[in-house]
Amino acid sequence: MKKPKITVIGSINMDLVTSTEIFPEKGETVRGTTFETQPGGKGANQAVAAARLGADVQMIGCVGDDAFGEELLTVLQKEKINVDSVSTIPETSSGLANIILTEKDNRIIFISGANEHVTPAFVSTHKEQILDSEIVVIQFEIPKETIEYCLAMCSENNIPVIVNPAPAMQLSDEAWEKATYITPNESERAQLFGDEYEEKMMITKGEAGVEFIEAGIKTNIPGHQVEVLDTTGAGDTFNGALAAQLAQGSSLREALTFANAAAALSVQKLGAQSGMPTAEEVDQFLK
Ligand code: ADP
Repeated sequence: MKKPKITVIGSINMDLVTSTEIFPEKGETVRGTTFETQPGGKGANQAVAAARLGADVQMIGCVGDDAFGEELLTVLQKEKINVDSVSTIPETSSGLANIILTEKDNRIIFISGANEHVTPAFVSTHKEQILDSEIVVIQFEIPKETIEYCLAMCSENNIPVIVNPAPAMQLSDEAWEKATYITPNESERAQLFGDEYEEKMMITKGEAGVEFIEAGIKTNIPGHQVEVLDTTGAGDTFNGALAAQLAQGSSLREALTFANAAAALSVQKLGAQSGMPTAEEVDQFLK
């Protein structure tokens, strides 16, 4: 069977995670406890989720010409993601999230870096590959004009697009209309749409699962009761899994059921990408 092709257009970041007992005050240096790097970025995370579930995934994005960029590319390649359309941008840092964790709290500085180079002009050079996909997935860690450009291109050519509006950013009404599926979590939904509810929205509700409209009626697929270790990347697993299933031709309910299970499995492990399940693991879980 030919694998369904998915294109993910989005961010590729390295998370630099420093743990400490206390945050430093102004001008102060404190001794931390641990440091680790974790590959992330919503685009890359969603690409990894879909690839692990068996989809043929191509990533469109940019990394910097630093050691993180090289490592991020290697991580994607190890997941068998096609990175021919990922560019390394000279004299630019990779997208980074500088995360400082204490037991109670976190402080994060985000650097968009090379992700800012995912412009409409850059994406247009990959138009042919994009239009050769079963489905396209985008999130909001790349410039807004790129998101609107991708939506216009895909809708003109009847390619379905999953829009994961995270982090929340408002688009024009015209752009929203061009999305095939919109997948906010509850806070993004409240921020962007208030009480407005459209057929194409699928709202993820954490442990409560996912809500959507089926045959005109609001329906809920309940969440799975699992032992939660780390919810980072739950939404990304959900979106990647949804794309993989829809690209295979599953019905919306089937795809959402599968994605809801994949995301529940992912929260039982530490890290965004490391917790993402394979198709066999999801099938086993749903048995
Ligand atoms: P985000 O990670 O984008 O904030 P959510 O918190 O809504 O999004 O989580 C996305 C999906 O992950 C949910 O719809 C659900 O399928 C799954 N999920 C998240 N948290 C849990 C949990 N505590 N238990 C079971 N499933 C969860």
